[in-house]
Amino acid sequence: MDYNIAVIPGDGIGPEIVREACKVLDAVGAKYGHTFRYTEVLMGGVSIDATGVPLTEEALAAAKASDSVLLGAVGGNVGQSDWYSLPPHLRPEAGLLAIRKGLGLFCNLRPAVLFPQLKGACPLRDEIIGGGFDFVVVRELTGGVYFGERKTFTENGVRKAVDTMPYDENEIRRIAKWAFEVAMKRGRRVVSVDKANVLDTSRLWRQVVAEVAEEYPQVTVSDMLVDNCAMQMVKDPKQFDVVLTENMFGDILSDEASMVTGSIGMLSSASLGEGRLGLYEPSHGSAPDIAGQDKANPIATILSAAMMLRYSFDLTAEADCIEAAVGQVLNEGWRTVDIMSDGCKLVGTKEMGDRIAERI
Ligand code: NAD
Repeated sequence: MDYNIAVIPGDGIGPEIVREACKVLDAVGAKYGHTFRYTEVLMGGVSIDATGVPLTEEALAAAKASDSVLLGAVGGNVGQSDWYSLPPHLRPEAGLLAIRKGLGLFCNLRPAVLFPQLKGACPLRDEIIGGGFDFVVVRELTGGVYFGERKTFTENGVRKAVDTMPYDENEIRRIAKWAFEVAMKRGRRVVSVDKANVLDTSRLWRQVVAEVAEEYPQVTVSDMLVDNCAMQMVKDPKQFDVVLTENMFGDILSDEASMVTGSIGMLSSASLGEGRLGLYEPSHGSAPDIAGQDKANPIATILSAAMMLRYSFDLTAEADCIEAAVGQVLNEGWRTVDIMSDGCKLVGTKEMGDRIAERI
């Protein structure tokens, strides 16, 4: 098959890491008989320099016309770059918000995978992590308290602020469906996280998730309160497969989940909408401190490309193949500087990409 991928290298280490991900995709294409065609799209600081805005209409149209989007990272050195003297809507990161909105992405997937080879980076004790863990947080991205009505006012001489947390059943149903679809491609277990002992939105969330669960009898589903979930992630992260939750809870839990793995250069992510087109990117930023030095770890971006194959293109064997190649290269002891440990062999961005592509 042929696939058209919009590639957004972005700023900082973005171009270096995206180059390696495309190299690995090409190796997969050669092995399984697919052609990946890349259209380069400008976004972030490079787009500001070239066009004056972080994402042009044409760039968004090119992303929309693709089968899926692979992004490196955008942004510069916040204290130093001229991009940050611009008004907020013209800064590099505004491109991210614009593309997510423009593509109608409402579902964020953040895997938390601890490769057993990188146990040393995990802040949890050995008896907790065992042979590693592998779960994914499915976070609702466009509803809830971040998008509800809000106001700050003074009442009887007292300053007051109010945020509201609206959700309708359609918003809950579409994100729940993604969580179950993801579970079907993984361990078939969903934990739905809410605060149903307090919040009406959570009680509706529970009802709708239970309704969607009926369509997926192969998937085991349970409910968990968000405070308990925060504890369970550090107490026993191995218990989770898919963690489904609303926007604000997901914001907090997905950061907690990534911190328990300890390795920022290894964490992929995806944002999805109604169709199959998604935006796939590493969880980290543009790392301007190491840009252009062949030091960046490309694995988060390579694993994001694997997610694209799995969730946008339904190419399960091909995605498994990339993940296995990453595991093999780690087993052989190759490490970029961010995941380096005693007895391992240090490589740069390009060599790490080469070695993973070779193992495909
Ligand atoms: P960052 O993730 O870019 O870097 C944090 C630290 O982790 C740095 O020391 C960096 O060198 C290191 N690091 C990050 N990725 C790495 C990799 N692949 N390999 C090795 N080391 C890596 O976060 P930051 O410094 O807070 O932000 C830098 C810029 O990135 C800012 O402009 C910020 O706005 C932007 N940002 C962009 C995105 C995005 O594009 N989605 C996300 C977060 C931050």
